[in-house]
Amino acid sequence: MLEAGATVLHVDVMDGHFVPNITIGPPVVAALRKYVTVPLDCHLMIENADDYISAFADAGANWISVHQEACVHLDRVIQHIHSRGALAGVVINPATPVATLTDILDAVDYVLLMSVNPGFGGQKFIPRTLGKIRHLAELRAQRSLSFRIEVDGGIGLDTISAVVQAGAEILVSGSAVFSGGNSGHNVQQLLQAARSANLQKA
Ligand code: ZN
Repeated sequence: MLEAGATVLHVDVMDGHFVPNITIGPPVVAALRKYVTVPLDCHLMIENADDYISAFADAGANWISVHQEACVHLDRVIQHIHSRGALAGVVINPATPVATLTDILDAVDYVLLMSVNPGFGGQKFIPRTLGKIRHLAELRAQRSLSFRIEVDGGIGLDTISAVVQAGAEILVSGSAVFSGGNSGHNVQQLLQAARSANLQKA
């Protein structure tokens, strides 16, 4: 997949509390770190994220994102991520408005919009995410900010063009890569579709 052009490895960390599933933690991130040189993008779908930032940073996470819904002291958590030398992202669920991020946008390196309800793979893309991507891109332009826009959930050949045209730059794909056919070939096709949508946008 990396040979096919994937540039980031997205790691979905779930705790069985914030989301109804348990996946992996810092030891797996540390194991991945030994085998890949691309950035490890750790998406923490966990409660008390602040308590685990150091463990993920020590394990080799280059990007760490936390949920707005799970962080009472979001500004402090973002500062903590930066203090460990990682890029910091904030994530919102499908029902959380972009407006809840107004006062943190100038402090983050990227915003991750969930386009499915987090917790499980294989879900369908929620179309109203497209309006949220556009809204976020408008806010960024209005305020001359430079955060990047990432989208996670239901990204496949049927949705990727619309997501890119709406303004997303970092595309997370799971099922469309792993659920059939050759993974490297799937990555190539997704990237090709994303690049042509980007050219159309320009
Ligand atoms: Zn994710």
